[in-house]
Amino acid sequence: MRTLVISDIHGNLEALDAVLAAAGPVGHVLVLGDVVGYGADPNACIDRVRAFPSATVIRGNHDKVAAGIEPSTGFNHLARIAIAWTTAALRPDNAAWLAALPQGPVIVDAGTEICHGTPFDEDVYVFGDGDARRALRAARRPLCLYGHTHVPAIYTLDDRLSLTTPHGAHVVLPLGDEARYLVNCGSVGQPRDGDPHAAFGVIDSDRRELVIERTDYDRTAAQAKMLAAHLPDALVWRLDRGQ
Ligand code: ZN
Repeated sequence: MRTLVISDIHGNLEALDAVLAAAGPVGHVLVLGDVVGYGADPNACIDRVRAFPSATVIRGNHDKVAAGIEPSTGFNHLARIAIAWTTAALRPDNAAWLAALPQGPVIVDAGTEICHGTPFDEDVYVFGDGDARRALRAARRPLCLYGHTHVPAIYTLDDRLSLTTPHGAHVVLPLGDEARYLVNCGSVGQPRDGDPHAAFGVIDSDRRELVIERTDYDRTAAQAKMLAAHLPDALVWRLDRGQ
């Protein structure tokens, strides 16, 4: 079975639709949080996720603030402006759906679990080897998928810990029996690794591999909607740089 892995959609409908088209048929979808925040289409992105026939969805920090579970005090200035706009734009049924999303980590199956930040704290960022080791210690499955940083990364722990930073499309990670993996497949709607293409992952359980992919999307359309919504300019133009 093919399982789609998406995270940090951030209200970017053009990026989400491009990813869904590029991924092709999948049996299940894993959504690692931050469906909303930053982008101009929070409702349409939530509607897409709610319509997946088979999905496991957890919340991210932006989802929590948009749903009123947490205040935006931990956010920087631009994120705070965007989340206030998002909160006001959400349909009541979508706000209730966001509020009901479970907190990660969530066990998906015998091989896989998902979290937004880390398996020990949904809001903590994995920024280096120390965070990765702590996350791998807390993980209860050999493949732990995370988001939150918007930067694709593959940590492999066998006799030692190694980091691979995927560049470009179609980076294949064979899933061996002996190792443990902590993997970020990147952000759909706001990549921050210098590559503006939307990022996603596909787990192929028959081939026993995880592939990280990138796809182009209609960035101009997404940006035009953000400008029309008077979302901050800096959030609009960072999509061009993938930063
Ligand atoms: Zn995010």
